[in-house]
Parts: sequence; C-alpha cells; structure tokens
Amino acid sequence: MTDVRDNLDSVRAAIAAAAEGAGRRAEDVTLIAVAKGHDAEAVRVAYAAGQRDFGENYVQEWQEKAAALADLPELRWHFLGHLQRNKIRQVIGKVALLHSADDMAGIDEMQRAAWSVNLKQDVLLQINLADEAQKRGCGEDDAELFIDVLLRSPNLRLRGLMTLPPADEDPEVTRAWFKRLRALRDRLQAQLRGRPGAPAALWLSMGMSGDYPVAIAEGATHVRVGTAIFGPRAPKIR
Ligand SMILES: *Cc1c(COP(=O)(O)O)cnc(C)c1O
Repeated sequence: MTDVRDNLDSVRAAIAAAAEGAGRRAEDVTLIAVAKGHDAEAVRVAYAAGQRDFGENYVQEWQEKAAALADLPELRWHFLGHLQRNKIRQVIGKVALLHSADDMAGIDEMQRAAWSVNLKQDVLLQINLADEAQKRGCGEDDAELFIDVLLRSPNLRLRGLMTLPPADEDPEVTRAWFKRLRALRDRLQAQLRGRPGAPAALWLSMGMSGDYPVAIAEGATHVRVGTAIFGPRAPKIR
C-alpha cells in the first residue's frame, strides 16, 4: 500500500535539502504531484496533506478527476502532455499552467481558444533538447522564434520553459540536459530584457521522480513528481 502522506513528506524533505545545497529557497521550487494513472482519492489524500499543485497528461482522465475533486477550492491543475488540437479548448482556462506549448499550430489554437473565452492562459514552451523524434517540443534553435510568437499572442502569457530530457539511469547525464535548459533560459531571458509582455524571470519546469533533486540543483522552479508520491502507475491501457 502506497502511503501518499509519507511519500510527500520524503519528497518535501528532499526538495528542501536540494534547494539548500544549491543555495536556493525551498519556497522557490513548486512541487507538482503528477497524478496520472492514480484515482481522485489519491489526489484527495495529497491535498489533505497540504499539496496544492497537481499534474495530468490525458484530457479525459483529467476531466473525470477534476469533476470528482471540484470541491477542493485551492487545487491547481497543470497540464503536462501533448494536446491534440481538437482537445485544446477543453483545457484552456481550466488549468493554472499549461506545460506543453509545443508546436506552432497548437499555439495558434491555444491563442484562439483563450481569446474566445476572454482570458489569458499561462503557458510554458516545451523544448525538445535532444531533438528526439518520439518527443514533442521545439528544438533549441527554434526557441527564439517560438517565444516571439508566444509574446505576440495576446491571450497567452509565457511563463517559462519545460523539458523532458532523454531518460538515463545516470543522473549526471541527465544533469547535463538540465544545465542546457538553464543556459537556454539564461540566454533567452537576457534577450527579452525590457521587451513588453516578457516576464522578468522565466520558469524552468524540469525534473521527475528519478532526478528532481538534480534538477533543483540546476535551477528548476517546477518539478513534476508522480511515482515518488503516488507509487507505480498501472500499465497504460489506452
Ligand atoms: C508522468 C510524467 C511525469 C512524472 O513522472 P514520474 O517519473 O512518475 O515522477 C513528469 N513529467 C511528465 C511530462 C510526465 O508525463
């Protein structure tokens, strides 16, 4: 039996230690509990233990869970996965942060959807650092162009960058990808200084169960942790 409450305590302690080791404040790191593959009850237990930010990858699964948890007033949803264009309208305005602005057509649809409900949606630009064919996101070389488009989308608010680096058992290999995203962030931020609508500080959404302490050491502002909180997921059947 997974003890979500105990696991959350351990993850919080590891975040605090990693932040301290990097000379950062633990409050500057947002823990997103990734609940895909787990039921609404698991989310409720984490919420009761003080967790407020939750991540989901699949629209239908998220919608069912969000409906079951509509009574939790402070719960903030983060959408992490690729969004098919025909699903974008179901998500815009209903999540605190959309981590997966990942192609031009999708960004265009996100802008239209946010405009049609008259709100400004917070988004992260997803970067495919290793240009992996099976992963979404723009390449490093295109980041400037994508950011330009996002900043000219009046109903989208660019907040930062997200990445899902190549999986590797060696955290030092993963560290190199985190360093690379941070360096990209630093370059983009310097270029954006003074530009209207550009945030003063771009967030970095990086790090999962296997490597979030390393990500925090490298500057992550948002870590997305599923298994280490909720236990193993049932095999995906879709
Ligand atoms: C599933 C998922 C996570 C969480 O992964 P764990 O290894 O279970 O912590 C984080 N980010 C994204 C984009 C995911 O799809």
